[in-house]
Amino acid sequence: MSSSENIAIPPEVEEQIMHLPKTRALYYDDPYLREFEAKVLKSITFGQRSYVVLDKTVFFPEGGGQPGDQGVVDAQGANFGVSDTRAVGQVVVHILSRPFQGEGIVTKGAIDWPRRYGNMKHHTAAHIVFSATRSVLKMKDLRYMGFQISTDRVRIDLNRDESMTRDQINEIERTANLIALEQLTVKTSFTTRDEAVKRFGSELGLTEVTPTGDVRLVEVGDQDVSLCCGTHVRSTIEVVPIKILGRLRLQKGIERLEVAAAEHGFAEFSKASETASKLTDLLDSEIGSVAPRVQQLLEERERIKDELRKLRMSVAESEALQYLSNAESVGSFKVVTRTLEDLDADTLKRMALKITYSDQDTIVILGSSNEATHLVAAAGANFSKLGLNIGEIVRAVAQKGGCRGGGTSNLAQTGGFPGNKTREFVQQVREAIIHSVPEKG
Ligand SMILES: [Zn+2]
Repeated sequence: MSSSENIAIPPEVEEQIMHLPKTRALYYDDPYLREFEAKVLKSITFGQRSYVVLDKTVFFPEGGGQPGDQGVVDAQGANFGVSDTRAVGQVVVHILSRPFQGEGIVTKGAIDWPRRYGNMKHHTAAHIVFSATRSVLKMKDLRYMGFQISTDRVRIDLNRDESMTRDQINEIERTANLIALEQLTVKTSFTTRDEAVKRFGSELGLTEVTPTGDVRLVEVGDQDVSLCCGTHVRSTIEVVPIKILGRLRLQKGIERLEVAAAEHGFAEFSKASETASKLTDLLDSEIGSVAPRVQQLLEERERIKDELRKLRMSVAESEALQYLSNAESVGSFKVVTRTLEDLDADTLKRMALKITYSDQDTIVILGSSNEATHLVAAAGANFSKLGLNIGEIVRAVAQKGGCRGGGTSNLAQTGGFPGNKTREFVQQVREAIIHSVPEKG
């Protein structure tokens, strides 16, 4: 879980640093310490940056999914920004974005406290959510597969074959908040891996050494125990409220939870609550009735859509019958030719059949374009009695135009021609039909 993609310290610098004495980790002595004084043991300028080693530090070096601290150190009254903190072996390295000279001097340093405190809260929240997940899903073998902490949220990757359900997520969130509200103390101590495994065995959720190589036991009350290198809050009350923002199937067998805690968790609850208020106003319902009310509205909407569709169809059918009064006479047939606006193939078919069923001596050619282009041709029963086949006629015209089409001797369709060619296709089918109809007599 250490970051390997971003090598912040060049090997040339590492070589000069790795044999220095172990840095005293003030961030473990007291994670709430923001300022300190320390002696500059080494300061290397390489490229645009300086790499500064102190005898002790409150700057936490990146590790276990928790970012390295940022802040300032000073030299001869000038402040130097620390853009990142890393560990090389047992030595903590402060990365400065401009040259720093001051080997042997005593410097004052301060970390960006809101950023670090955000990391601490989200780190601790991750342990609590882990414990809640283990208990809600009854997974004794739940394991951390990854961990990504930031000031305003934390991503926790867990071994899980099935996706968590909405109900499970809600229950995990509720359980996590109840655990945090117990004001559990977070206890840390140094140990050996063997000792920790002997005491806790498979209960150890997370098992990683610190960036500087120590094995550190972190106990969140009696809820969670792990080997963890990060900085945590003293009491779980500091991370309330915990909000699970979402879940994601990261890959097969790994489920990711995204969590916001403390003021960031509250902001998310607040957003959800605002939305809920708007919904209760809009629907004029109690909060508990909003979901069934929306469900009911959606069902009503489907029913109305269905009724509208039927109504439109029946209007289209009766309109179709009126086209007969303007039909042209070809042989013994009345031919209706129309290019219509914005109708689908199903409606065109229903309209055409309405006409040909009403009169056996009719031929109908209807075209329209909506998202796609459609053409329907139909003929009354007397058409096929003459040995004529409207399916073949339409297929031939369609093929000439590079489209597929065809049908039975009395009903055929084609489509997929360019939208601006609808009228042209309708006319081509009309001409082909008129050609095939024998003169009256
Ligand atoms: Zn931790």
